[in-house]
Amino acid sequence: MPPANLQHHQTIRDQLISAISDAERYFGQSFTMPEIRYDLRGQTAGLALLREWVIRLNAEILFREPENFIAEVPKHEMAHLITHKMFGQVRPHGKEWKLVMSEVMQLPPKTTHRFEVTKTRQERTFPYSCQCEGKNKVHQLGIRRHYKVLRKQANYLCTRCKAPLISQP
Ligand SMILES: [Zn+2]
Ligand SMILES: [Zn+2]
Repeated sequence: MPPANLQHHQTIRDQLISAISDAERYFGQSFTMPEIRYDLRGQTAGLALLREWVIRLNAEILFREPENFIAEVPKHEMAHLITHKMFGQVRPHGKEWKLVMSEVMQLPPKTTHRFEVTKTRQERTFPYSCQCEGKNKVHQLGIRRHYKVLRKQANYLCTRCKAPLISQP
């Protein structure tokens, strides 16, 4: 059972029910209610487990900003489930997911939850290159790895060409 308060839980269920009935009307088939878990931690507001048909939500963020959370997160995650069921393995926020958001649910297909802003800021990356050709050449290292390289405590290798990654200016 959710640690989230019951009223929030019911509102979230209502959001999902409305998303499901939109999708049923649009695709002409029925979808079951996913299991909702409130066990997500850290900076991520929501996560859809596609094959398990589960939506994991972050109760901490829900408590902090219930209105924004309820308006944005449940349907965003529901759209991931519907997209997976209808289109199979596609890019998480690709054109199929955008179609489900905008055409099916009449929502702006925003690709990040507002709550994830702090996360992307913390997870700044630094460009590195290897010996591969073209696009594969560019790698992004997180800040922790980047500083290890700067301090000469570690070297990282490209998994394809096995060359050491060199920091790009
Ligand atoms: Zn998403
Ligand atoms: Zn390479």
